[in-house]
Amino acid sequence: MPPVEPQQYDYIVLGGGSGGSGSGRRAAGCCVPKKMTWNFATVNETLHIAEHYGYTIPKDVKINYRHFKELRDATVKRLNGAYERNWGREGIDLVHGRARFVEPKVIEVTNNDGTKHAEHGITSDGFFEIEELPPKIAVVGAGYIAVELAGVLGAVGVDTHMFIRGETFLRKFDPMIQKTMTERYEAAGITIHKGHPGLKEVQLVRDGKGKDKLLKLISNDGSEMEVNELLWAIGRAPEVEDLQLDIPGVKLNDAGFVHVDEYQNSSVDGIYALGDVTGHAELTPVAIAAGRQLGNRLFGPPELKDSKISYDNIPTVVFSHPEVGTVGLTEPEARKRYGDDQIKIYYTKFTAMYYDVVPAEEKKKNPTEFKLICAGPEEKVVGLHILGLGVGEMLQGFGVAVKMGATKRDFDSCVAIHPTSAEELVTLR
Ligand SMILES: Cc1cc2nc3c(=O)[nH]c(=O)nc-3n(C[C@H](O)[C@H](O)[C@H](O)COP(=O)(O)OP(=O)(O)OC[C@H]3O[C@@H](n4cnc5c(N)ncnc54)[C@H](O)[C@@H]3O)c2cc1C
Repeated sequence: MPPVEPQQYDYIVLGGGSGGSGSGRRAAGCCVPKKMTWNFATVNETLHIAEHYGYTIPKDVKINYRHFKELRDATVKRLNGAYERNWGREGIDLVHGRARFVEPKVIEVTNNDGTKHAEHGITSDGFFEIEELPPKIAVVGAGYIAVELAGVLGAVGVDTHMFIRGETFLRKFDPMIQKTMTERYEAAGITIHKGHPGLKEVQLVRDGKGKDKLLKLISNDGSEMEVNELLWAIGRAPEVEDLQLDIPGVKLNDAGFVHVDEYQNSSVDGIYALGDVTGHAELTPVAIAAGRQLGNRLFGPPELKDSKISYDNIPTVVFSHPEVGTVGLTEPEARKRYGDDQIKIYYTKFTAMYYDVVPAEEKKKNPTEFKLICAGPEEKVVGLHILGLGVGEMLQGFGVAVKMGATKRDFDSCVAIHPTSAEELVTLR
């Protein structure tokens, strides 16, 4: 695409790819292929359980990952095409390329996709390019993306090694989730290198794809390991350097994110920012909701002139194995905010009925665990943390309840749906 002549705009919104991670991906960029990969891995887990239900599953079930990748790519392409056609119908021009300010309200777009590569390893973008599964992989990082991607790799039989600095991963989540999920991954055969001092050097031993690629990892403590791939999932830095934000004078905060107020206003009139680049709850629906509210505020009828997104009680799911769901405060956050004497915890741990057919040893490896954090004499639910089979689909409805300010009594007044795992959340004692 040829460069686009610099153009002046009245309103400029920074952010809003909603689905990428700095790769020029769009709309369905990361969440959808990630969830499809999770579904793909879940099939393998189901095959394993199927044996216990009496199905005869051949021992040498082959996985054609390339076939799956092609299907996944086609889905993403179809979805992105649909989004782009809808934008076209709305009269929105989509300009592909790299944007930068050349004057305070003038933007130039050049033909550069801004793709960045991790030396010898891959990032999550590279993960979606894999055509042949590596037999052995190292995943560096302890956040939800590291956990999700390590989880799918482990579930399809890749010898997966996670390198984390602390003793548990998912450190921003409730301690129950950190502990159980770390144990669960270990029980599932993922090797977790805890308290890892970091990698000093990565050497390319053999170039290639899948099993043919070989890397030597040298850690800061001198230890070495050979792997077929290295996945960096150590967090996403705000991608602002190319924009030349100093030209309009848009301020960044200390962590390098675009500084915005609660209405997505940047420090410069007429320039707004939303989504990951602002560093608030880095999730696709959050970016979309912030965009909708901003549109309502700028261009909507008078009654929408104060529209803004609420960042409280955003439910979120980690597509790990099993899934994790969380909304509201963690237990330490709730105790800090309300005081220990104002907090009551309801908790349960059990095994979902689905696993009743598996041997006791394996059953233990598949826990479901729920924690409800209530505050004050009215026992308002201020945190809900769930892990186990099916919790990803379970959370959205409970998210509505928590957002509405439900109390423990409200939960109890809802008749249980039997037999489900979710019923345990309305019968907690
Ligand atoms: C592997 C992975 C899995 C994820 N899974 C989920 C999930 O399941 N659910 C969920 O809610 N969230 C998920 N996320 C997070 C989600 O992708 C982000 O929160 C969301 O994409 C944020 O949208 P955004 O519009 O703010 O930013 P982005 O989607 O990152 O879009 C910003 C766009 O701006 C482009 N850009 C940057 N600089 C320039 C420039 N100078 N010129 C032109 N373009 C530029 C970038 O290339 C990018 O395409 C996942 C993220 C990753 C990496």
